[in-house]
Amino acid sequence: MARVYNFSAGPSMLPEAVLKQAAEEMLDYQGSGQSVMEMSHRSKVFDNIIKEAEKDLRDLLNVPDNYKVLFLQGGASQQFAAVPMNLMKNGVADYIITGQWAKKAYEEAKKYGKAVAVASSADKTFSYIPDCSDLPIDDDADYVYICHNNTIYGTTFKTLPNTKGKILVADMSSDILSQPVNVSDYGLIYFGVQKNVGPAGVVVAIIREDLIRDDLPESVPTMLKYKTQADAESLYNTPNCWGIYMCGLVFKYLKSLGGLSEMQKINEKKAGILYDFLDNSKMFRGTVRKEDRSLMNVPFVTDSEELNAKFIKEATEAGFVNLKGHRSVGGMRASIYNAMPVEGVEKLVEFMKKFEADNQ
Ligand SMILES: *Cc1c(COP(=O)(O)O)cnc(C)c1O
Repeated sequence: MARVYNFSAGPSMLPEAVLKQAAEEMLDYQGSGQSVMEMSHRSKVFDNIIKEAEKDLRDLLNVPDNYKVLFLQGGASQQFAAVPMNLMKNGVADYIITGQWAKKAYEEAKKYGKAVAVASSADKTFSYIPDCSDLPIDDDADYVYICHNNTIYGTTFKTLPNTKGKILVADMSSDILSQPVNVSDYGLIYFGVQKNVGPAGVVVAIIREDLIRDDLPESVPTMLKYKTQADAESLYNTPNCWGIYMCGLVFKYLKSLGGLSEMQKINEKKAGILYDFLDNSKMFRGTVRKEDRSLMNVPFVTDSEELNAKFIKEATEAGFVNLKGHRSVGGMRASIYNAMPVEGVEKLVEFMKKFEADNQ
């Protein structure tokens, strides 16, 4: 059976080499006589898996020693609550609203303190990143929050906001490992892994140690305290062992390709092919301000709903699946994460050219 090119925003493609390795190791992981799904999270074998996954992630991202790496559950959405619960000391935080995920995080934070929307691009359907060079940051803000890459709208921060000395917190669910990150620019980075890393069910938090508090209010659930998870080295309770194992395989695979500078080159190449086509097409056009375009999520439209629907249908039949745009934007969206081969984007563009010629 031929594999399709899956342009879904998430869950999304995984590297074929990793899937094959997981298949080979499914029944007997490295002579243990069992699958990773079956083994104790307290076993020596699994301890190696999680330690190595952490080490490889630290290598890839150059994570400084004064940051903890936590493998958690509950998805990125649970972090919308965990972040304010753990980091709001003064009870104030500033949010930059660049899309639905940022907005959801902001709405959630309001439950735990004073969350302030200090900038927003809602006025133009989140098709750009607002100027964040001189925002009205609160003097007693505990942190400034961004969604680094806006999965739904296809925008990304090319320049980080001026936080005026406050801690920066970033949701990097849809662009982590797509390019190098200077971790020290942030107090906390978190990401759900199902976009650009592994299977759904794992969320990783990378947090500066001095932000891990042991003076949290009694009301904060034990499981949601970063302290609990950091003290237990992500093994307070049963983690998603198989998900962590899969992420570990992806980390090793990315290292074997040359790490994140190499991934950035490949991702720039892929996105370049698609954006160049969109900029020159008479039928298709991108929906995002050029300087804010994402390398990962590329929304585009034609001028007709009918043509959009016809395109999505014919593309699906040709093996380019999940190109339908998010319901709030309409049109199409091609998510071209790390695991999408260059060839997948080249073939999609060939298909779009032919569709344009056939439907003039
Ligand atoms: C998908 C996504 C989320 C939600 O992730 P879940 O793991 O499903 O909670 C949050 N933020 C961003 C940027 C996303 O792309």
